[in-house]
Amino acid sequence: MKSETMKQPVLWYEIRGSLYLNISDRCTLVCQFCPKTHGDPQVHQYNLALQKQPKSQEVIASLPDLSQYQEVVFCGFGEPTLRLKPLIEIARYCKEQGVKTRLNTDGLGCLVHKRNIIPELSEVIDTVSVSLNAQNEAIYKRHCHPQLSNAYSAVKEFIKHSVGAFKAVRVTAIDGLAGVDIKECKKIAENLGAEFVCRYLDKVG
Ligand code: SF4
Repeated sequence: MKSETMKQPVLWYEIRGSLYLNISDRCTLVCQFCPKTHGDPQVHQYNLALQKQPKSQEVIASLPDLSQYQEVVFCGFGEPTLRLKPLIEIARYCKEQGVKTRLNTDGLGCLVHKRNIIPELSEVIDTVSVSLNAQNEAIYKRHCHPQLSNAYSAVKEFIKHSVGAFKAVRVTAIDGLAGVDIKECKKIAENLGAEFVCRYLDKVG
């Protein structure tokens, strides 16, 4: 799988000793900084354009020996929580293999599913990394174009309820986007009890 080219979409890929799982290519955001928004399905050398939404068993059957990885990361080219059932089934399998799990999320899972999904996620996910992306709703809308109402508030609620539920909660924003105040984003994250991690424009993974 390491040598897959752009012609073959991948269900998983490796970055610096971690295994990234690509289980969804759908989002309720249309982030202006995302390669997908610009029609580019490539992350590093991998083609993440899924031809169909893979079933749990299909993903699990494709996985390599997980003991060689420091972490399995649900990330891919869409929002993993939009596929909640397979996400949980695959994460449970990974935990049974003794590997740590991380979910990279837009933090909108509770809003989308209209219920608190954090308890079921926290049974199988160790670390959650939430994209806050902005210090206020106006800047969030400018860069992320949410399709759902009250998305920015929902992200902050998700962070608040994640703290204490998961072993670690990271909050991210991207330095280099117009109007994004990284210091303010960090303050929001820390006030909610989470760790802040700054990302940089055009650096993926
Ligand atoms: S939520 Fe993630 S995958 Fe979806 S458009 Fe935004 S950056 Fe891209």
